[in-house]
Amino acid sequence: MLALNTDINKISRVGQATAKRLNHLGIETVRDLIFYYPYRYDDFSVSMPINKLRAGERANVVAQIELIQTKRSPHRRLHITEALVTDGTDQLRVVWFNQTFIAKSLKEGDRVSLAGKIEEDFSGLCMMSPTYEKAGESNINTQGLVPNYHLTDGLTQKQLRYFLRMVFSFHPEIVDWLPAEIVKEGNFISLLSAIKKIHFPENQKDIDEAKRRLAFDELFLIQLQAAATRRDLSVLQARKVEFKEIETRQFVKSLPFRLTDGQKKASWTILQDIAKDTPMARLLEGDVGSGKTLVAVMAALNAALNGLQSVIMVPTAILARQHWNSLGKLLTSFNINIGLLTSNDSLLINQNETSKLKKEKMLASITAGEIDILIGTHALIEDKVEFAKLSLVVVDEQHRFGVEQRKKLVSKASNKNEELAPHLLSMTATPIPRSLALSLFGDLDVSIISELPSGRQPIATRVVLEAKREAVYDFIRHEIRTGRQAFVICPLIDGSDKLGVKSVKEEFVRLDKGVFPEFKLAMLHGKMKPAEKDKTMQDFLDNKIQVLVSTSVVEVGVDVPNATIMVIEGADRFGLAQLHQFRGRVGRGDHKSYCFLSTDSNSDATITRLEALVKYNDGFTLAKIDLKMRGPGEVYGTAQKGFPELKIASLFDYELVQLAKQMAIKLIEIDPSLHKWQLMLAQLGEWERRAHLE
Ligand code: ADP
Ligand code: MG
Repeated sequence: MLALNTDINKISRVGQATAKRLNHLGIETVRDLIFYYPYRYDDFSVSMPINKLRAGERANVVAQIELIQTKRSPHRRLHITEALVTDGTDQLRVVWFNQTFIAKSLKEGDRVSLAGKIEEDFSGLCMMSPTYEKAGESNINTQGLVPNYHLTDGLTQKQLRYFLRMVFSFHPEIVDWLPAEIVKEGNFISLLSAIKKIHFPENQKDIDEAKRRLAFDELFLIQLQAAATRRDLSVLQARKVEFKEIETRQFVKSLPFRLTDGQKKASWTILQDIAKDTPMARLLEGDVGSGKTLVAVMAALNAALNGLQSVIMVPTAILARQHWNSLGKLLTSFNINIGLLTSNDSLLINQNETSKLKKEKMLASITAGEIDILIGTHALIEDKVEFAKLSLVVVDEQHRFGVEQRKKLVSKASNKNEELAPHLLSMTATPIPRSLALSLFGDLDVSIISELPSGRQPIATRVVLEAKREAVYDFIRHEIRTGRQAFVICPLIDGSDKLGVKSVKEEFVRLDKGVFPEFKLAMLHGKMKPAEKDKTMQDFLDNKIQVLVSTSVVEVGVDVPNATIMVIEGADRFGLAQLHQFRGRVGRGDHKSYCFLSTDSNSDATITRLEALVKYNDGFTLAKIDLKMRGPGEVYGTAQKGFPELKIASLFDYELVQLAKQMAIKLIEIDPSLHKWQLMLAQLGEWERRAHLE
């Protein structure tokens, strides 16, 4: 038996170079290879006699070579290999381009199996660039349902198919970890059988059965983890946060605006939830700018008024500082200590009084329960950060954090004397339909803020082709002269040889020297030191910088109300949901704002996709369109941290998602520890480990 964790380069015929290429696809072990699924199949299950072939079809032909030769095309620098084959019913011309080695490996008289498209030209039917192999007992590349895999440079379909055959001939040690009762109840085929059928199907039914089983496995692990999290929470107690009605009303009254209905509803639900002694676990979803922060602040305010602590975790130091600033302002009329703790900052604010603390002092104050609301980055997860009475955990932009990071923060509510869970509020602007959110985050309740505060001006959005670039710069110049500021987003940090893709460093120099010499420009990207980033962001906020050339680091949360222009270079390289996030960086103040989507692609599909942003201003609609065009993996799957990429399952396969959920809950009911199913627990552990590496 072949062990699954055998290194892929231990397989015979996989040399160093090939191993590298396989690694590039994420294939390092036999297991990785076996679980590398095809993305489609060619149907060559019927071998056609030559006299029955028709133009336009893809077919398999088994025939004998009568003639084969390679010549050079007179006009183009092409090597053309031409063969004439016959199967007794008729003759067929076969053509390959620039594959001179074929004429060396195939000889006249050879019987070959060919698979490819039949085309028609001036001299009749012809097979263009078919896959070929010598006709034999098993023609895995040209007959039957032939799997196609995503490849990388220097690796061929034939090689992958060959390696897979070889690995299976050594009987890989595939253990079915799915409990037998589920396999039976769900009417699934075994794991070994599913894996074999996905790579070597004999018919469509094989493919369907294999996909259903393998997709279920992925969905089931998500649901199992969710069910386990719920189980852990349900046995824990939480500190009650009593609703302080008078103060909350006073706070709402002090705001310069009225709460939207969505904000009211979400806050009300949350304030009721946290008043209980069972821990809340809720996802708050709302489009960019819908005012989620305020909802979190109301919960944190109530906690503080109860003498309890809250913590708000955000993905970047920039955002942390920004939240700390705005909370400081919002809560000036309350005697509340608001701390900021990132790898650079350790600051305190209370009723407009700001002080800098030594980090040790900050940690001591947190432990002593003196800090009421603590804001920070994942630095908050460190062991040294201990709370006296943590009651509320807010995770902003939750899709930026892994499950483990959230768990770690949640574990901080307990102390030596009591095992407690905090109330958890996760916030995201990723527009996920409710049913999908429930299947993705089976462990969370969901609240949605579906409207923006009234009076927001829509952001004028334009797709800009190269020819109009100068006009856009003129417009930006004009805006800056009236006091406004601009973002320019580039897909890359450093220049690359990929033609035409703009990089922050190159674009910064070009704009600084050549286009806007009269203004102050700066760069912002992930390779800068945190302190530099903070300084740049602060200078931009203070309008000491007029144009900020940045990578996608400004994607989430950043709030600079005076910035009214967003230029996105290489816009075709981003998804609609992400572009919408970028656009959400402007239009946050009273001034009319503009978004320019720059692209040098003139493909219709690209322009249509970008035009969707011109037409629509809400994230939900855009997500739906993106979903249709790019598929859920691109829109949600890869964007969600903490989930391994779904290779074969669709989150939109509602029936299978439901089944996975039911089964997971059922197992927890039978044996809450799940110890009855050791293989499954091991698989879950492995799945979680992989999720966190991403
Ligand atoms: P997001 O949901 O994207 O996190 P924020 O909480 O950052 O949005 O809010 C965006 C801006 O809208 C902030 O400047 C905030 O003060 C403002 N805001 C929040 N609620 C309202 C409201 N009901 N009416 C007007 N402005 C609001
Ligand atoms: Mg926000």
